[in-house]
Amino acid sequence: MKSFVTRTVHGGTLEGRTIEPLVQPVYQTSAFAFDSLEAMNGYYEGDGSYLYSRNGNPNTDTLAKSVAGLEGAPAGVAASSGTGAILAGILAAVGEGDHLLAARDVYGGTVALLKNELSRLGVTVHFADFADTGEIEQKLMDHPEIKLMISESITNPFLRIEDIDVLVQLKKYYGVRLLIDNTFATPYTIRPYEAGADLVAHSATKYLGGHSDVTAGVLTGSEELIGAAKERITGMGLNLSPFEAWLTARGVRTLALRMNAQCRNAKGIAEFVRNRMKVWHPDAGAMVTFELPEQADVAAFFRSLGWIKVVPTLAGVETTVSHPYSTSHRALSAEEKEALGISEHLVRLSAGIEDLEDITGRLKEAFEAAGC
Ligand SMILES: *Cc1c(COP(=O)(O)O)cnc(C)c1O
Repeated sequence: MKSFVTRTVHGGTLEGRTIEPLVQPVYQTSAFAFDSLEAMNGYYEGDGSYLYSRNGNPNTDTLAKSVAGLEGAPAGVAASSGTGAILAGILAAVGEGDHLLAARDVYGGTVALLKNELSRLGVTVHFADFADTGEIEQKLMDHPEIKLMISESITNPFLRIEDIDVLVQLKKYYGVRLLIDNTFATPYTIRPYEAGADLVAHSATKYLGGHSDVTAGVLTGSEELIGAAKERITGMGLNLSPFEAWLTARGVRTLALRMNAQCRNAKGIAEFVRNRMKVWHPDAGAMVTFELPEQADVAAFFRSLGWIKVVPTLAGVETTVSHPYSTSHRALSAEEKEALGISEHLVRLSAGIEDLEDITGRLKEAFEAAGC
């Protein structure tokens, strides 16, 4: 290689070196090279090689495999976000003309996806109160076109634990499929696939990543449904980037340690707050929701939290709080918020891994500043 210009392009290749890193490196490449046409044909015949990163990449596959393994599911696929994973899961199970039934208290972004986007694809969406089995059953009877039910293992912000066993019985009886968003619980706490759900989706942006530094999603399930979801992800460009996948897979390696510490802290925080006001903490997961008393100065509380930051997300190693009234449920009318019990005094806390005494000490100061 004599030419300076050619050397700028090809000078950085290590030919013929075998390198065995301890951890998987980032395959930051848009495509994969082949020595011959025969080798490329091997890809199309399913020899497990890689072609183009939108179709598949070792980092996204590693992430999907590790999460599928934790969920006890045979297959998984990574997506650009939790929303992308949920969309791919829905489109693997329903098509134009089909209906689906979702729990009324699913994540706000999922409601927006169902209401604003799926109707454009010819899918009709129904909602029901999933705490009421009779209401679910009535919808399934009234609309035989329903092909899929969607709910969350732990809902937001009141942390209702879904009765997955009941949903599995209903789905078998009515011949529909079940997708569970397991973001709040993670497979450390609840494993919906093992309980009989067909698809389990994650916003890996939350606990799986765990460090508040990626937006990512993972969908797990049967080979058949994940195969269909992969086609949608490739076809619609919902794939995750190699570096985001690498960061998320690194996060997954400490999931058990983080969840152990965060769940324990959540329990301690719930006990601390319970003496002062109404608390929701189902003794599962690491989220705590509480309602500041009527006389409390809500703005002063949020202003006085110091290193406990106010954010519209959750699940990082740092303790954070959110204000459902003005973020996740902002788009709802005053009447809708009231019907759901979302008052201006409601606070949703995501327990981090700090020392419990430091967290409760900080909260105490903020409660005092708020006059409660
Ligand atoms: C955050 C979240 C989502 C959406 O995930 P993104 O990664 O932001 O697309 C879906 N479901 C639940 C329960 C979430 O908390």
